[in-house]
Amino acid sequence: MNKADYKGIWVFAEQENGVLSSTPLELLAKAIDLKAKLGGTDTITAVLLGKDVAPICDTLFAHGAEQVIVLENDALAVYKHRVYAKALVELVEKHKPSIFLFAASPIGRELAPRVMARLGTGLTADAIDLDVDEEGTFVQTTPNFGGNILSHIAIPEKRPQMCTVHPKVFEPIAPIAGASGPVITEDIAVSDDEDFVILNTEEKVFASQPIDKASIVVAGGFGVKNEEDLAMLSTLAELINGQVGCSRPLRETGMLGHELQIGQSGATITPDLIINVAISGSVQYMAGMDKSKCIMSINKDANATIFSASHYGAVADFRKLVPAIIEEIQNRKA
Ligand SMILES: Cc1cc2nc3c(=O)[nH]c(=O)nc-3n(C[C@H](O)[C@H](O)[C@H](O)COP(=O)(O)OP(=O)(O)OC[C@H]3O[C@@H](n4cnc5c(N)ncnc54)[C@H](O)[C@@H]3O)c2cc1C
Repeated sequence: MNKADYKGIWVFAEQENGVLSSTPLELLAKAIDLKAKLGGTDTITAVLLGKDVAPICDTLFAHGAEQVIVLENDALAVYKHRVYAKALVELVEKHKPSIFLFAASPIGRELAPRVMARLGTGLTADAIDLDVDEEGTFVQTTPNFGGNILSHIAIPEKRPQMCTVHPKVFEPIAPIAGASGPVITEDIAVSDDEDFVILNTEEKVFASQPIDKASIVVAGGFGVKNEEDLAMLSTLAELINGQVGCSRPLRETGMLGHELQIGQSGATITPDLIINVAISGSVQYMAGMDKSKCIMSINKDANATIFSASHYGAVADFRKLVPAIIEEIQNRKA
């Protein structure tokens, strides 16, 4: 493999039923930054697979794509990992990108490693930052070893340098009205996966709206031990027009669903206000909420890491403090 043959930054434009997911737009914004740091010669390409998906190209151009590779085929109408992986491998072998970015979404997490393995290259999973170092090397940052360290990973020998990126760590650019560019319509042969048939797909119905849609969040951690504690947080959330979210250990108790988990393996949220209740502040948790506009935290341990990321903090037992806050709000509302 000659590294010099590989040029350009690719973003996988993940879509379902013709609806583009939001993370590719965040990745396009980061691609603009990476391009500048890599010397400005890499073309930013969005790669779009599916059926009747070409209308999405306008959105991709408006958000920073300089060209779009489109592959439309009946076999790509519904996402199937082996079909999509085979198509992407062929596209990479043909066009030879230097960098290939995916969202760390369920699809991206499944698809990117398969593409990586077939190409025999390297992949960083769930990056929370991307950069170019002083020597011009593309570097991906990801929390490792239980979040105790941040790893800065480079893929020096193999191409493309692949990466899945956590949603919402980058901001999409403001859309550029009327932006356009070349659309490369590919016609490589794609056949369906005969090993299984998708009979029906149904959208999952959640008990509550996903936590990344809430503008005020009351988040409970592992210090929240039972339904009574949780009811207290729900009452507070209701009083301030917020929604209850959680850290992973609270989700693992089964009291709340995954759609409410905040953090590296949950949602990344940027609400106007988050109140962290009995959450210690692990790297994985903070990666999901440290860009919130106002962060308040309640923890009985004055040395809890969460306080370092908080605008306001209370060192207190939440079982005493939260009822007092609830009472005060109720009194003021009366
Ligand atoms: C690959 C990977 C991905 C991960 N992804 C995520 C993720 O997406 N989200 C996530 O949250 N975690 C994630 N984790 C787990 C993470 O490392 C931590 O274990 C987790 O965030 C800790 O949750 P916590 O703060 O609720 O619990 P703990 O660390 O146990 O903290 C509980 C806190 O509650 C306080 N407390 C207890 N009782 C009270 C009380 N009565 N009043 C006030 N304070 C009290 C304690 O002082 C303590 O600080 C991940 C880990 C790995 C390895």
